[in-house]
Amino acid sequence: MTPAECDRESDCLGPRAHLVGCPACREEYESLHALVSDEQATS
Ligand SMILES: [Zn+2]
Repeated sequence: MTPAECDRESDCLGPRAHLVGCPACREEYESLHALVSDEQATS
């Protein structure tokens, strides 16, 4: 998926559905989520 397609899909599907269909964005989201979970666990 190209960045342009990614933008368009994100707009029409919404962020949640887009995360399911776009491996690149899901990976980014999961690494971000893991980071947040880490911070919560340590504090
Ligand atoms: Zn995407």
